[in-house]
Parts: sequence; C-alpha cells; structure tokens
Amino acid sequence: MSPNGAQAICRKIISFVAMTVFAMGVSRGAEPPPVQMTLRKIADNVYMMQHPTGSSNACFVVTPDGVLVFDADVRTADQVMAAIRRTTDKKVRYVISSHASGDHATGVWHYREDKPTFIATRKQMRDLYMQEKVEFDERKASKDPRFSVYRIPELVTPDIAFEGAMTLQFGGLTFQLTEEGNAHSTSDVTLYIPQKRLMMMGDLLDTEIHPGPGESAQVFFSNARNWIAILDRIIERRLPVDTYVPGHGPVHLGRGVADLEEQRRYFVTMRDEVSKMMAAGRTVEQIQAEFRVPAEFAHYIGPARLKAFLGLFYHQLAERGYWP
Ligand SMILES: [Zn+2]
Repeated sequence: MSPNGAQAICRKIISFVAMTVFAMGVSRGAEPPPVQMTLRKIADNVYMMQHPTGSSNACFVVTPDGVLVFDADVRTADQVMAAIRRTTDKKVRYVISSHASGDHATGVWHYREDKPTFIATRKQMRDLYMQEKVEFDERKASKDPRFSVYRIPELVTPDIAFEGAMTLQFGGLTFQLTEEGNAHSTSDVTLYIPQKRLMMMGDLLDTEIHPGPGESAQVFFSNARNWIAILDRIIERRLPVDTYVPGHGPVHLGRGVADLEEQRRYFVTMRDEVSKMMAAGRTVEQIQAEFRVPAEFAHYIGPARLKAFLGLFYHQLAERGYWP
C-alpha cells in the first residue's frame, strides 16, 4: 500500500475514534474515557505530548538547569508531568501558556511540587481571571461526571505577565516569547527557540484538524482576518525554523514553513468558499449544512470545530462586508 493510502486509512481511523470518543463523552453525561497522550521527540531534549483525538498538545524542553513546559491542560498535564519525571530528574522551572483557553492554560496545578514560575501575557492573565476561572469553578462544582477531573485541582494564575515580547535566557537556551496578537484568542503567544530551530505555535497552527474558534466560557473570540495577517508576519520573518509545533494535531518534523503556508491557505480558501455561498444568498445554517470542504483539507478531522468556524467566517464576513 502506498504511504498515502496508509495515511488516509490512518486518518479515517483517527477520525472515527475521535467522533466515537466525542459521542461517548457528550451523549449521556458519562465520564469520558481516559485519553493517552503520546510522547514525541521533536529535537534534542525537546518533546511534544500529542493528544490522541485532536485536543491540545503540550511541549517540554529539558535543560541542565531545569525544565520549561509550554501549555498545560488540567485534563492531561498529569501525563505530561509523568513523562517529564520519566525523562529527567530536573525540576520544572517555567510554564508558559500560548493562550488563556482551558485546554492550554489550566493545568499548571499539576506542576505544583516543583514550584515553577508561570508566565503569560497581561491579556491572558485577564482572560484567565475573567473567563476561564468562571468556567473552571463551574466545572469544579459540577456533579457531571465529565468534569470529575476538575474536582481536586485549582486554577493557577500567572506569576509574571508581559506585553509584546519577552526573552528568557535559561539553561543555555534562548526562549523568545512573542505576543502575536488576536487571532485564535485575544492574545496568542509563540515561543521561538533558535538553538533548536523550533517555534511552538499554540493554536495559531493546527495540523490535520479544523482550527478551533477560540471559545472560553461560551465566548467566541477568534479573528480569522487577523489570523491570516499574523501567519503572514510569521512567514515573512523567514526564521531558520525546521519545525513549527502545532497546538492541535500531529507535529510534522522538518516540514518548516510549509505548515504555516497550508494553515494560511486554509483560511483564505475557506473564507472565499463561505463568501461565495453568502453571495448566493445562503444563511449561516444552510452554509453549515451544505458546506463541502475543499479537497486539500478534506482529510482534516473535527466536524464540530468546522461547524463553529463556518459560523465565525460568516459573521465576520457579514460584519465587515469585505476582506482586504
Ligand atoms: Zn486549543
């Protein structure tokens, strides 16, 4: 079988498992089955923990002075911590969040034994207090077995909040944090590690899955137009990066800027398809029901994310009337 054929079957299986898990998780209020994160080495002493059904990934970097963690979901950070303990005897010194959504910024509690410094942006800090904490506390108080994982942990808020950019020299490496702006969330942060030729993208980059519409406590705040502009700016930096690490989906080692270009193409193509349907008089509900995903992205998983994002495209196109 050709590698492409095998990949296609693999994707179908992943897609089926994802839909089954989703259906099981939401249908009868049952406790969701435990997921098993997969450890992937992405460079020397740099690892990504990949979520099996397309929820958030997390990364960690091991240095002689300790460990830096990028993104922490309360539902899976215990597995990341266990992987760190299996990999090194160094303590977790820093945790950085790509943005303030629950699947990236709620799991710092799991690192409490090591007392790391939690770094985020000022906008992320505000969103954590104003939105995430509300949702986190609701889930914590809930008797719904789907939220049982929230019962013991506390939402840890950042120790240090920055605006714009921040450089951290730690363990012989340079960690360059850039607040890229409002695309997936109100404040999306990338982490560039020049010595490793890596950039961690958070949810600015999702691979083989439809992007998330940036929901927190039922507020949707993604901005598809800015997303294109921000991807343009990152591509234009022409950084010596081998791998851009996605917030959701599998990491494509060595694919470089082609991953960012594919993500950018996704937004432009999907926007144009939604525009055409709007021009033909289709309502948002009709678009969500009738939309045919263009061939290049037909293998992407996450139908619920697609539906939400079509709504986002529709409303943002309607609001502006045009796109530059
Ligand atoms: Zn996410």
